[in-house]
Amino acid sequence: MRKMKTMDGNQAAAHVAYGFSEVAAIYPITPSSPMPEHVDEWAGQGRKNLFGHTVQVVEMQSEAGAAAAVHGSLQAGALTTTFTSSQGLLLMLPNLYKVSGELLPGVFHVAARAIAAQALSIFGDHQDVMAARAAGCAMLAESSVQEVMDLAPVAHLTALKTRVPFINFFDGFRTSHEIQKIEVLEYDELKPLVDQEALEAFRQRALNPDAPVTRGTAENPDIYFQHREASNPFYLEVPNVVEHYMHEINKITGRNYQLFNYYGAEDATDVIVTMGSSAQVATETVDYLRAQGRKVGFVQVHLFRPFATDRFVAALPKTVERVAVLDRTKEPGALAEPLFLDVQAALVQHNINAKVFGGRYGLSSKDVIPADLVAVFDNMLAEAGKRFFTLGINDDVTNLSLNRAEGVSVKTEGLTGCKFWGFGSDGTVGANKSAIKIIGDHTDMYAQAYFDYDSKKSGGVTMSHLRFGKNPINKPYLVTEPEFIACHRQSYVHEYDLLRGIKKGGTFLLNCTWSPEELAEKLPAKLRRTIAEKELNFYIINAAKIAAEIGLGGRINMVTQAAFFKLTEDTIIPIDKAVEYLKDSIEKTYGKKGADVVAMNNKAVDEGVGALVKVEVPAAWKDAKDSEDTFEKSSCTTCPSYVANIAKPVNAQAGYDLPVSAFTGYEDGTLPSGTAAFEKRGAALFVPHWIKENCIQCNQCSFVCPHATIRPVLATAEEAAAGPENFETIPEMMTKGELQFRIAVSPLDCLGCGNCVNICPAPKGKAIEMRPIDGELEFAPAWDYGVALPTKSHPMKQETVKGSQFKTPLLEFSGACAGCGETPYAKLITQLFGDRMMIANATGCSSIWGASMPASPYTKNQQGQGPAWANSLFEDNAEFGYGMFIGTEKIRTQLADTVASI
Ligand code: SF4
Ligand code: SF4
Repeated sequence: MRKMKTMDGNQAAAHVAYGFSEVAAIYPITPSSPMPEHVDEWAGQGRKNLFGHTVQVVEMQSEAGAAAAVHGSLQAGALTTTFTSSQGLLLMLPNLYKVSGELLPGVFHVAARAIAAQALSIFGDHQDVMAARAAGCAMLAESSVQEVMDLAPVAHLTALKTRVPFINFFDGFRTSHEIQKIEVLEYDELKPLVDQEALEAFRQRALNPDAPVTRGTAENPDIYFQHREASNPFYLEVPNVVEHYMHEINKITGRNYQLFNYYGAEDATDVIVTMGSSAQVATETVDYLRAQGRKVGFVQVHLFRPFATDRFVAALPKTVERVAVLDRTKEPGALAEPLFLDVQAALVQHNINAKVFGGRYGLSSKDVIPADLVAVFDNMLAEAGKRFFTLGINDDVTNLSLNRAEGVSVKTEGLTGCKFWGFGSDGTVGANKSAIKIIGDHTDMYAQAYFDYDSKKSGGVTMSHLRFGKNPINKPYLVTEPEFIACHRQSYVHEYDLLRGIKKGGTFLLNCTWSPEELAEKLPAKLRRTIAEKELNFYIINAAKIAAEIGLGGRINMVTQAAFFKLTEDTIIPIDKAVEYLKDSIEKTYGKKGADVVAMNNKAVDEGVGALVKVEVPAAWKDAKDSEDTFEKSSCTTCPSYVANIAKPVNAQAGYDLPVSAFTGYEDGTLPSGTAAFEKRGAALFVPHWIKENCIQCNQCSFVCPHATIRPVLATAEEAAAGPENFETIPEMMTKGELQFRIAVSPLDCLGCGNCVNICPAPKGKAIEMRPIDGELEFAPAWDYGVALPTKSHPMKQETVKGSQFKTPLLEFSGACAGCGETPYAKLITQLFGDRMMIANATGCSSIWGASMPASPYTKNQQGQGPAWANSLFEDNAEFGYGMFIGTEKIRTQLADTVASI
């Protein structure tokens, strides 16, 4: 048995890249960032590469700088690599052409990602690598973490031997961040594969004043074209060399890598062609359909550039009649997507008369599942099959999408799926990463973990998807039929369809403060019905209480992790062993923070094991009626249509089901202002309570609040009297009793950071204190009433701390982290100038908290005015803002000229 380790695709790529590199010029971009981070860390630890040296790591000012440094380092004769994604790769384009044009053997590892178009997305598809396909690099694709480990060496070895640089890519997030237990290739196994002569020749070609040459010349029409053609032989050699090194890797691993791997029936008539992680879905789909007697198969593309048509057609079964090519990219206006065009051309070139279909799928990490691929095979056979189609969405505008095939259930013997609903920053994701490593590294089981998040910087919903079993796990999509579901936040019982897909007889663990007796009243009817109908083993635990008593605050992760291992002890690890491993990992993780922290976490583990309460599910829950629900769901009868039709479903994790037509009218990516106000996340456990007797009306609490969820309210005596019962006020100090004053708090929007309480300077004692949210919810109507009152003038100058806070903030309820130090200033600017602002916002933290669909925290005043906000890219923001300025100025000048001419 080879050495197994639990890691993600980024770590696998970094392991290989480190081994083969002497220099790494880096610049981070999600989801590729962990690759350079690993390389940087290992270099700092003095780890040695294949050649016995430490890698020289340089961080540059941008991806363009990183690519230029790669270019220069290669010219100097050092084996050089870098890592990137998305627009980062596009920024490297000019140098990719240079590096390939000068036949320099660099390797660019890419966690392939969507490109910002109508909106930015950090998730995976092939739009970036497809945009780079003309740059002259060879392109090698991997479909799993194991393949990254096995084939990334092929990219490095072939680049060195052929002098053609490589883009080595795999699916962003799905492969880059999926944790898998894989076999590791050791450096001493790889070192003999390095072509020493090629390495020496590379060194000899390096720029060197002892043998000076000139490179990077200018050429005219007389010779440029011919000279460009002169490198063709190098590219013609690439497939042979890739094949050679794949065979070498095959000898080491026992696996079978080819330029194009075919899998399926020898006499298949219908074949899918795909690249990247979807190949694993194709494997199980083909198995599923062949078990029904269908003659199907699929071709997995590994070497995309150069596209070796002879190897491709050789991989196809002779019996093929129909081919469906799946592209994970979109080229608006193109005849078809790139892989389709290559396949079509290859078939024509080799006189293969098969009907070719083209499908687009998986943009921005949208899952493709076996039911999608069954639909692709069915579509090829249908009389009115769509020649071009999309997968995994409902396109009711151009009607391109295929409906998922119904009744497809691909079962894998002995595989257990688990899903965890967590709350950003509660430690659930970290705990699951640690759990999967414990399972992977301490049992003979294979393990897989993938993490799904919303866009909040913290305090959003997280969904952890874990699988483990006796065989390698080839399911690059979310867990859809879990045996185990845990929900770590009780308010989610009303917000999400928590138990969707859970298997009959499965286990449900709910972290809540409720007693078993209270559950009938607290849980919505639908949840109770599912628990009873599916005969679930239902457990509760009060992890928040345990964590708080131990001193861990809101960090419930160790309690819930211990509970998970207890509930799965029969299928995974005996609980005493699991506790031992958990405590080992606590020592590793928290050891540097001191013995106290370690002891607290150890105690959380011990208590988590013993604190589970099994709920006896009443038979009557099967008949629970929705009308019995005591919880009042927020009504959307008065919401703007965008909120009702897009924001609400997205926030309920139902965005996957929205049809294309939901975006009619918003095709250009426009997001209406002020939609964050409809979220009402209820994310804080403790929120401020105003103690009016102590308040000196300084407004500092409002000034520092990152989320604009605590504000001074001015009201006339009549307005104060007409407010809700608990709309208590005190006479306003500077208007001599003309106005009433109140500090209003929105409990459902507050993130509980406590900044307001910390800053409060009231001399008699704090005039605000944090209290449990349950008791403060009754003040929500007082907030709604107070902030809707007409704005009043106040004698205090608006340029002062106090005066500024009487102006309406036009930035509220952002998705920034609790306690954010940036948003109070951005909010203040909107209070002073927001009604006349245009914002050019660079890509980064402020663009994520400022404009993550479907929530816009930028809003309007009572006159309907507010900041107009737009984002271009990360690196061009000054120019983008300058463009806004000159465009606006030009329109104004023209207007003035027109008026003057009348
Ligand atoms: S606790 Fe933080 S988010 Fe809540 S009102 Fe105070 S400053 Fe604002
Ligand atoms: S900081 Fe304290 S004293 Fe000042 S307005 Fe707020 S609650 Fe009142």
